[in-house]
Amino acid sequence: MISTSTARICVVGSLVVDLVVWLPYFPRKGETLHPSRFQIFAGGKGFNQAVTARRCGAEASLVGRVGMDAFGEMLFQLMEREAIDGRFVARDPELGTSLGIPMIDPNGDNSIIGIPRANTRLSVQDVRAAQPVVADSHVLLLQLEVPLAASIHAAQIAQGAGATVILNPAPAHLPLEALLPSEMSQAGWIDWLIPNEVEAEMLTGRPVRSVEDARQAARALLACGVRRGVVITLGAQGALAVTQDTEHYAPAFPVTPVDPTGAGDAFCCAFSVALAESRSLEDALRFANAAGALCVTVAGAEPSLPYRASIERLVLSGGKIRSHDSLS
Ligand code: ADP
Repeated sequence: MISTSTARICVVGSLVVDLVVWLPYFPRKGETLHPSRFQIFAGGKGFNQAVTARRCGAEASLVGRVGMDAFGEMLFQLMEREAIDGRFVARDPELGTSLGIPMIDPNGDNSIIGIPRANTRLSVQDVRAAQPVVADSHVLLLQLEVPLAASIHAAQIAQGAGATVILNPAPAHLPLEALLPSEMSQAGWIDWLIPNEVEAEMLTGRPVRSVEDARQAARALLACGVRRGVVITLGAQGALAVTQDTEHYAPAFPVTPVDPTGAGDAFCCAFSVALAESRSLEDALRFANAAGALCVTVAGAEPSLPYRASIERLVLSGGKIRSHDSLS
C-alpha cells in the first residue's frame, strides 16, 4: 500500500526495455552463444524515476517517447500498473522503443549494448503538448537520456509556472558548457543539480573521491549558474549538498549491497519528492539516502526501487534494515 504524499512530480525522460542475458563468458569473434538466463525488464532513467515517485506516494507524470511495438505496449502497461500518468508518452511512427542489452558474466561483470531509437526523438513539440502536466508539477525531474533541447524547454515551462527543476546529469556525456546558460545575462535553467561522483568529475574535470573533493566540485558547479544547490551522491559514503548559504553532509545508511543498479534514480527521485513536500534539506537528504540504500539491497533496477513505507522505516530506525524492508 502506497502512503500518500502531496507532491506532484513530472519526469521528462527516457523509457527503455532491457533484454538482459546472463552468459557463461563473453562471446568470442564469430561465436554463437546461448545465455544461461534471459529476462526482460522495463527501465530507462525517466521510467525508473517516475516509478520511484509513485512508490514514494507522489503523483507522477512521465513525458517521453516509445515505439509502436510490443515493447512500447509493455511500458504502457507498466505505467498503468504503477498509476503513472503516461498521457504524454508519444508513440514514434518510425523508430522502435529504445532497447538495452546488458550482458552479465558469472563474475557479475557486465557490458551493455544500448540501442537508443525513440528516446532520441523526444522533441520540443512533445514537451509543448505536455505543458499542462509540466506546469502543474511541484518538481520537474530531468536526466540526460533524451535530447537536451526537450529538457531545456520543459525547464522553461516549469520555472515559468513556479516549479523546481532538478537535473540528474546522467549518463555523464555532456560537457558542463552544454548545461549552462548560453549568455551571462540569462538565468540558469537548473535549480538543483544531482550528479554522482563520476558525473561530478566529468563536469568539473577534477577527481571526486572524498567528501572534501565533493565539496569543492559542488562549489565549482554552483558558481557556474546552478540556481539553488548541488547534491553529489557518493555511493556508500552518502551524499553532500551545497547551496549558496548552507552545506550539509549526510552519511549513507549501512546496508549490505547486492546490486547498485538504480540507486542514483531512487536517490534523485526521493530527494525531489521530499523537496516537493517542502521538507528541510537535511530531511530530504536523509530520505534520499535511505531510498538509495534500500535500492542497493535488491537485484535489478525496477524491482529494487523502494516504497515510501520502507524508506520511512529505515529513516526512523536510524539505519537498521530488516531483510524484507526493501520489498514493501
Ligand atoms: P549512482 O547509482 O548514480 O552511481 P551512487 O552510487 O552515488 O549513484 O548512489 C546513490 C545513493 O544511493 C548514494 O548517495 C547513497 O545514498 C545510496 N547508496 C549507494 N550505494 C550505497 C551503499 N553501498 N550503501 C548505502 N547506500 C548506498
